[in-house]
Amino acid sequence: MSRVYNFAAGPAILPEPVLEQAAQEMLDWHGSGTSVMEMSHRGKEFINIAAQAERDLRELLAIPQNYKVLFLQGGATLQFAGVPMNLLRGRRSADYVNTGEWSKKAIKEAKRYCAVNVAASSEDKNFSYAPKQASWKLDPDAAYVHYISNETIGGVEFHWVPDTGGVPLVADMSSHILSRPIDVSKYALIYAGAQKNIGPAGLTIVIVREDLIGGALPLTPSVLDYKGQAEADSMLNTPATYAVYIAGLVFRWLKQLGGLPEMERINRAKAAVLYDFLDQTEFYYSPVAREDRSLMNVPFRLRNDALDAEFLKQAKARGLTELKGHRSVGGMRASIYNAMPAAGVKALVDFMDEFQGTHGG
Ligand code: PMP
Repeated sequence: MSRVYNFAAGPAILPEPVLEQAAQEMLDWHGSGTSVMEMSHRGKEFINIAAQAERDLRELLAIPQNYKVLFLQGGATLQFAGVPMNLLRGRRSADYVNTGEWSKKAIKEAKRYCAVNVAASSEDKNFSYAPKQASWKLDPDAAYVHYISNETIGGVEFHWVPDTGGVPLVADMSSHILSRPIDVSKYALIYAGAQKNIGPAGLTIVIVREDLIGGALPLTPSVLDYKGQAEADSMLNTPATYAVYIAGLVFRWLKQLGGLPEMERINRAKAAVLYDFLDQTEFYYSPVAREDRSLMNVPFRLRNDALDAEFLKQAKARGLTELKGHRSVGGMRASIYNAMPAAGVKALVDFMDEFQGTHGG
């Protein structure tokens, strides 16, 4: 067996010990004689698996008691609709911050349900930075303020929590949740697709303050109504059972590692290796403002983009895969999620250095 270093943005690399444990338990989970995939979601075994996963997630993120944790389906994209449908609660508009491709998609979807005020944008500089709080033009009557706290495609991360003056703050944390500790109490709602730092695709996590649920638009599909899902322990219908199980193993892996403070320390060290290399070479460059660079998604470019295809080909031959930037922006992108070992980042930097040496850098 040979495994590559997979730098994909998602679905993405998962911790090897988790995959190994899942393999061991595949045919017979804890003496039950069945795979988790084959279990009833209403059975005692699976209910325990889901409850343990929720407990571990709550512990990792120190989620306060007055927040519900929902294990849903439909991806972060469904939450682009779920957020306005649940949180408008009689108001007519919401504030959105536009920092790139995912913001644009969230805004487009929200416009189906309400007026959208773009409170801040980084479009003027090709979405290469996080707009400073002072530039935000917030509406005190907005139902909520929405932002993408880590733009997966542009590689822009907010390293600070916006102050919305009491208006509920909503964050799409799909591509950096669990990469470092966060203060959940500062948010009204956090959502994230699982397929980056949590587990397999098919699971979406919503963490929502209790007092904000219960006022969904009448047309809201029941699987998207947070109140109904909270009351049914996210089992209004069949949940993504296997994805929940793997997510639970990832949460346990994170706890064993030392939790999110330790994960953050590791992530900072890994990202520094790559950014330090990018900053000392003329051959490659990072298009993102230094203070807003993502610890998870690192876009970079070759000054001579005629070499892009050759770079990708040689990288792949070395077992360094999925380095191609998103089709909407081009260039390269290395996603270095929690599960990417430091050795993977080192192998990438060694290859980049060597490629530069043989191609005129
Ligand atoms: N938001 C962000 C920040 C993302 O990175 C992605 C997926 N890459 C999405 C939303 C969409 O997620 P999904 O495909 O799970 O709907």
